[in-house]
Amino acid sequence: MIEDKNQQLTKLSDLGEFGLIDHLTKNFKLKQTSTIKGIGDDAAVLGFDNKKIVVTTDLLVEGVHFDLSYMPLKHLGYKAVIVNLSDVYAMNAKATQITISIAVSNRFPLEALEDLYAGIETAASIYNIDVVGGDTTSSNTGLLISVTAIGEVETNNEVYRNGAKPNDLLVVSGDLGAAYMGLQVLEREKEVYKVNPNSQPDLEQYSYIIERQLKPEARKDIIKLLNDLDVKPTSMIDISDGLSSEIIHLCKQSDVGCDLYEEKIPLDPQVITTCEEFNIDSTTVVLNGGEDYELLFTVSQSDFPKIKANPNLSVIGYIKEAKEGMHLVTRADSRIPIQAQGWKNFND
Ligand code: ADP
Ligand code: MG
Repeated sequence: MIEDKNQQLTKLSDLGEFGLIDHLTKNFKLKQTSTIKGIGDDAAVLGFDNKKIVVTTDLLVEGVHFDLSYMPLKHLGYKAVIVNLSDVYAMNAKATQITISIAVSNRFPLEALEDLYAGIETAASIYNIDVVGGDTTSSNTGLLISVTAIGEVETNNEVYRNGAKPNDLLVVSGDLGAAYMGLQVLEREKEVYKVNPNSQPDLEQYSYIIERQLKPEARKDIIKLLNDLDVKPTSMIDISDGLSSEIIHLCKQSDVGCDLYEEKIPLDPQVITTCEEFNIDSTTVVLNGGEDYELLFTVSQSDFPKIKANPNLSVIGYIKEAKEGMHLVTRADSRIPIQAQGWKNFND
């Protein structure tokens, strides 16, 4: 663990705040033409011509949003960027810049922050975004990371949560529930490790779901795909908190209802087998889990031919009038109201 190796490692106090910022940010290269001034002045300067700008922030707190006993810092840096980019893509926008703010205790040596920044840099390079600023301060307890992401979208191309119309199709990208089941496996292994630190877990059969938890991706590719297919969703949201609460957000903001078909929910085979092993209902996991970072959106029926053959997209239901409510249509053909919570009682 980090503390045991502190002797050979570099104390943050050896560098000072400015030395630390320089050290952590020296590798960042600017790629976006909209970045006029990046790190190094009092503020970054961006220029977007006639585009609309989207801005989003997330704060991640150690012990609340992540656990460093199984989350490597490099992955944490990557994930902190991804969760923000996902929000930018959910507006049908292109992510262009981020800022990174960290509060860190002396418990972390420089090498730990280098790992964190290596993950940030990897995400910035893969998603082609510029790191244009941030803030650095000390914390008495754990680590905090706040990322702000900025993006651009042509006027009239932005997609809000509130545009779904009755008869629209409800569509989701990728598959759901994997990150939550990955977390269940990691939590179980952590307990095993506490009892027997020499245990060498074989996690091969959980590789996909663990990766979905530790190294999620944001669906930049889906925004491009929809653009290539000439499909503009009528509403969109990213799935960070579980499908049921995201469906409720879309429907409430659009003032509509919906039918969600249980049998249409896309599941990876590892999610199915791990749910069986943990004796958890996979639909419950999808509805209440979280951290999928897939996109949930609605399209008009006339766009169905454009999306139907695509393996990245699943039609999982359709939009109804608000007065009809929001329901899960189960495999047994019963209709259950969709609720943000309370799925624990689902099988009662
Ligand atoms: P100020 O005192 O004006 O807030 P700082 O010394 O905190 O300035 O920051 C100097 C520069 O370094 C600014 O461009 C700032 O955005 C950037 N910066 C500070 N901390 C970080 C960080 N953790 N990651 C990336 N950039 C940072
Ligand atoms: Mg500052």
